[in-house]
Amino acid sequence: MDEKSNSQKKIINLFSNRNHKSFLVSNQIKKKFENKGYEVSEKYNNKASLNICVGGDGAFLRAVHNSCCSIIPFVGINTGNLGFYQEILTNEIDEFVERFISGDYEIDRLSLVEARVYFKNSKKIARHYAINEFLVRAKEQSIVHLDVFIDGNHLETFAGDALIISTPSGSTAYNFAAGGSILYNTLKGYQLTHLAPINSRSYRSLSNSVILPSNAVLKTEVTKIDRNNEYLLIIDGINKYYKRSAIDYIEFGISKKHINKLVFNKNWYWLNIKDKFL
Ligand code: NAD
Repeated sequence: MDEKSNSQKKIINLFSNRNHKSFLVSNQIKKKFENKGYEVSEKYNNKASLNICVGGDGAFLRAVHNSCCSIIPFVGINTGNLGFYQEILTNEIDEFVERFISGDYEIDRLSLVEARVYFKNSKKIARHYAINEFLVRAKEQSIVHLDVFIDGNHLETFAGDALIISTPSGSTAYNFAAGGSILYNTLKGYQLTHLAPINSRSYRSLSNSVILPSNAVLKTEVTKIDRNNEYLLIIDGINKYYKRSAIDYIEFGISKKHINKLVFNKNWYWLNIKDKFL
């Protein structure tokens, strides 16, 4: 190992939410890594060897977004209630530090879904990335009407609250609450789930979610009947508004980008699902 990569090993990024418990836990982690000779950065440093997120799943999602989907591995320390990304409990911090330093872990590669927004009268494309999911919905609490195409084939005309396009690791979040399936978090592919679809003589969409291969392109286009002026693309819970007059269509698919997450217990995923949902 050369000198440069050796020095890269010595930096840790530490992100935390703002509650008191997370603050105390972050200080504890900072001291432990500093005692082992690491520099701990509370701002994203692209030379770090690890991104630590202290808090609940929201802290993990924010850390990934704030680091622009960094390729440096992430690990979550759980100080919240639910922890689907947050494997390490606060009483396991000593063991985590030792195992990280000795390289005793595996890495899960988690896919991201990408949204490409195409505009009318413009060649500009806006790209967004989600770790959990995108929702396409109307700005107000009104029905959204969308034509859905898969690889250029018209699948359905959806009318309802929203379409959810989720990653495998996000399948246990909003997607699951909307009746979608759980996909194993490292599976290759993504999922389309309908939120409160209207099925009548005028509109018909599938009542089950659809699981798509990672090379499939899903396109949504607002139908002529839709009267909303503004749309919401919700990206892992963050709202992005688009004007109807500006958008041509939106494409979704698995991104070339991905994130890496440290795994210390290979059984953790299923234990967590049983613990949290059953
Ligand atoms: P938040 O604090 O309101 O968190 C929402 C809940 O979603 C938390 O309990 C969190 O632990 C859980 N969650 C997040 N990612 C998860 C995952 N991959 N698997 C299982 N549970 C998960 O909001 P936030 O912290 O900003 O998180 C945003 C996420 O909240 C969104 O990505 C969306 O998936 C989720 N959400 C869910 C619902 C719902 O289930 N009806 C509604 C809104 C948002």
